[in-house]
Amino acid sequence: MVEKKGPKEITRAYSIASPRDGNRFALCLNRVPDGLVSPQLFELRPGEEIEFSEPLGYFTLRHPGHRAVFVATGTGIAPFRSMLLDHLPRTHPEVTLLFGVRYPEGLLYREEFEKLAEQYPKFKFMPTVTRPDSSWTGRAGRVQAHLDEALGLRTPDEIDTVEVYICGLQEMVDDVRARLKSKGLGRKQIIYEKYD
Ligand SMILES: Cc1cc2nc3c(=O)[nH]c(=O)nc-3n(C[C@H](O)[C@H](O)[C@H](O)COP(=O)(O)OP(=O)(O)OC[C@H]3O[C@@H](n4cnc5c(N)ncnc54)[C@H](O)[C@@H]3O)c2cc1C
Repeated sequence: MVEKKGPKEITRAYSIASPRDGNRFALCLNRVPDGLVSPQLFELRPGEEIEFSEPLGYFTLRHPGHRAVFVATGTGIAPFRSMLLDHLPRTHPEVTLLFGVRYPEGLLYREEFEKLAEQYPKFKFMPTVTRPDSSWTGRAGRVQAHLDEALGLRTPDEIDTVEVYICGLQEMVDDVRARLKSKGLGRKQIIYEKYD
């Protein structure tokens, strides 16, 4: 993506949050306070123009036939929503989505994921919040605390076939990668995208 500001172009990457849909696509954006570009995106009005480059990158579901675990925090959910909406009806993958945010109201697309989990028995949705309120009865704490449950290994051998996709800010991504490696997952089984 390219955002023009005066004579200087500023570029930022954003994940596509929607499935294939002709020339339309959705983004899922966080306003970074004091950020150079994201606050401007929130100020955009209908009719104003910004410039996008073609889609880039390889953060896609590699082997829909393998069991996959998606680990996201915050707007790191964007590429997973795209993959789920694209693949669940088409290739029927076995997927667990572990999604961490601070507050329950920050669980983006919560209802949609809950409906998908009802509709597709091979899809499991595991939300967790680090700052639950009194109404929250679900999982609490960081995504790291729920990795074993998300991996859901029925036998030790299954560790060789699962693929884990991670998306979010660097600190979480690096920590989850290290934990997965210490559990015995190989480099090629861990696919990740860092937002910073
Ligand atoms: C491959 C890729 C895909 C991305 N997809 C998305 C996306 O779908 N949605 C999205 O909101 N951002 C996404 N980002 C982050 C985005 O590119 C920008 O870094 C972000 O919008 C901040 O830009 P800025 O100019 O406002 O802030 P800057 O002035 O560049 O300040 C950068 C600061 O913002 C922090 N930051 C970056 N992204 C986030 C975030 N999402 N939440 C909280 N803090 C953040 C960084 O840690 C850093 O401290 C993606 C980044 C990459 C590399």
